[in-house]
Amino acid sequence: MQKSIMRQVFEPTLGDVLAARNAIAGTAARTPLAPSPHMTRVAGRDFLLKLEIVQPIGAFKIRGAANAVFNLAPDVGGVTCCSTGNHGRGVAFAAAARGIRAVVCMSSLVPQAKVDGIRALGGEVRIIGKSQDDALAESRRLCAEEGLVEISPFDDPLVIAGQGTIGLEILEERPDIATILVPLSGGGLAAGVALAAKAINPAVRVVGVSMDRGAAMKASIDAGHPVAIEEVASLADSLGGGIGLDNRLTFRLCRDLLDGIVLVSEEEIYEAMQTLYYEDRLVAEGASVVGIAAVQAGKLTDLDDGPVATIITGRNVDMSAFTRVVSGGDVVLGDLTVKGKAHGA
Ligand SMILES: *Cc1c(COP(=O)(O)O)cnc(C)c1O
Repeated sequence: MQKSIMRQVFEPTLGDVLAARNAIAGTAARTPLAPSPHMTRVAGRDFLLKLEIVQPIGAFKIRGAANAVFNLAPDVGGVTCCSTGNHGRGVAFAAAARGIRAVVCMSSLVPQAKVDGIRALGGEVRIIGKSQDDALAESRRLCAEEGLVEISPFDDPLVIAGQGTIGLEILEERPDIATILVPLSGGGLAAGVALAAKAINPAVRVVGVSMDRGAAMKASIDAGHPVAIEEVASLADSLGGGIGLDNRLTFRLCRDLLDGIVLVSEEEIYEAMQTLYYEDRLVAEGASVVGIAAVQAGKLTDLDDGPVATIITGRNVDMSAFTRVVSGGDVVLGDLTVKGKAHGA
């Protein structure tokens, strides 16, 4: 195996987040931190939305992906990853900017809109199996057989540092933020944001929010070690998948840095998608609205008086599913049907 194929694992620090900011400037946008008047009324304190939906790929994952791809050795000819969609988009975008090949492995649970998005950026797509684990196995096989370099969607120090730039931006703009609500799956976003935000202000609370069907990080932290979960369809499809039984960084970082993990139901995600659309006029994925869902459902009763920010992580939603949600239609998710409901009803 070539030397450049082996990527180093190290413990990311605030210094790595600051370096990531320089590396990705000009590729990832510095995004707005917009007030939500409606959610400010609901929460009873300033409530701000960090709008990662305006990134060039429509999601925050461009930050970590670009940081990882731009730091590769010059002789690397191609990269591969497993993805629930947005990381693949980020990797394809960054690889195209560098003029190298990107092969994205995804399970059949990934919405077609995300597959199309990656192909449109010049990425090669392989649909493998029914879980992120199947996709990861294919990605590992490609590393071994085709000499591609794997870029983990979350368990990578450069990816974590890239996502951490969101924490920097939030606290630079609003040093008074007391709580950050972070959509949580593999934990690259939560680990990066928590490590950056707490390095700047150790009093900031960082709370992860996952869907209650298949919350891998929560189950792992509860068990004391990474555990496998059953992957099921969710409105928050970007939050699906395990954290890897051989997790190197995000399990420990999330366990040590997060102040809590809250779970929300599919009904609560459904209502929060409607809220963001009708009250703030924003189109976003289910994964983006879990922070709003948690507050709206009264699941964050111990918020202190300070301002709250949540990260609106991505907008790459399947539009037929989105229009069904905002028009109050039923949504079928495998064996679960979310009963249709009009906004505010
Ligand atoms: C990947 C993703 C997340 C979760 O990020 P992790 O680093 O895996 O915890 C949240 N929202 C969206 C839209 C994503 O694509």
